[in-house]
Amino acid sequence: MRETLLDIALVVGILGSSAVITQLFARTMYLTCWRCHTLNARRRIQCRKCGANLRSEAQPGRN
Ligand SMILES: [Zn+2]
Repeated sequence: MRETLLDIALVVGILGSSAVITQLFARTMYLTCWRCHTLNARRRIQCRKCGANLRSEAQPGRN
């Protein structure tokens, strides 16, 4: 019984932490379009769906 509870706690912990990691990963690796809310790879300049400019602010260290 105790092992079953531990297994459940482990599964819940893994699922919860993977959800958090996925969120962090998505925020780090992707930009959300301000116009249509599509996720775009961070290297993109324009939204792949609506073509909105994803880099309105100047990027220091580039060009
Ligand atoms: Zn867009």
